[in-house]
Amino acid sequence: MTDSHCSTRRVSAPRNPGSRFRPFTMPAKSEDGCFLKALRLVLPANLRSRAVALTHGTHQGIIKSKNSLWSKVLFPGLDQQVEEAVRSCTVCQASGQAGLPAPVITECGPTAPWQRASADFGSLTDGSYMMIIVDDYSRYPEVEFIRTTAAANVIPKVEKMMASHGLFGEIRMDNRPPFSSHEWAEFLQT
Ligand SMILES: [Zn+2]
Repeated sequence: MTDSHCSTRRVSAPRNPGSRFRPFTMPAKSEDGCFLKALRLVLPANLRSRAVALTHGTHQGIIKSKNSLWSKVLFPGLDQQVEEAVRSCTVCQASGQAGLPAPVITECGPTAPWQRASADFGSLTDGSYMMIIVDDYSRYPEVEFIRTTAAANVIPKVEKMMASHGLFGEIRMDNRPPFSSHEWAEFLQT
């Protein structure tokens, strides 16, 4: 490293409480244009969501995701950004890892596995979809990847799940396609 690429400067608490640099009160170092604080990279705003998404790629929970990020990078609002990412993650919600409270079991709730299941879709970046069906009794999720949400794609996947778990007593879903389709209605009647 040369002096032209590496310089050290001290970032201290600003006198102006409204400064956007206020959270960083420890010495920081600029190396090759990157800011480091306690050996962690201070991420610029345009890379923060990508870092959170990459860290959460394995769908670990909020605490593990935070610990993983904190060990390498630093930026204001890291905790909140991780919490939002995990709570809005369809896969984590389906598997009950999103830190959401457990569902209230009422007298009308299922009393056996696969007596009632809930279905939903999550869209993926390549235009395809994840179909998630969760057993409302055990919260066990089944996930299938499909190119479109057409009934012709969805029904064989549901049949495959039923071949493993037995017929679902009830499937809860919203009234969007394919669940509002004629093919789906026919499938439920068979
Ligand atoms: Zn997740």
